[in-house]
Amino acid sequence: MTYVVTEACIGVKGEGCMEVCPEYAIFSEPVDDMSFIDPNKCTDCGVCMAACVVGAIYPDNALPAASREFLGLNDYWFRHKTGVRARVREIGVGLSQLV
Ligand code: SF4
Repeated sequence: MTYVVTEACIGVKGEGCMEVCPEYAIFSEPVDDMSFIDPNKCTDCGVCMAACVVGAIYPDNALPAASREFLGLNDYWFRHKTGVRARVREIGVGLSQLV
């Protein structure tokens, strides 16, 4: 199991989750619109979920159906940053058009 950062993080990118993660498993670079959890480092402690001010983090077995894509996006970011950034940007634009 792993925890997953979802679309609520886009454009917010708070650092509370990174500060509390005991495994240093949460990453983001300045060019990113959100943060990502490394599934190979995450030990499923859950403290990041409680620290997230926008409720963007879920355990993978409790991901809302609309956020399922983020399970792959968190994982792929560690291997294919450019593609994930483009997809996250696309999702973010879609979300901004809903408000
Ligand atoms: S569940 Fe724990 S180990 Fe996994 S990313 Fe969150 S704080 Fe880090």
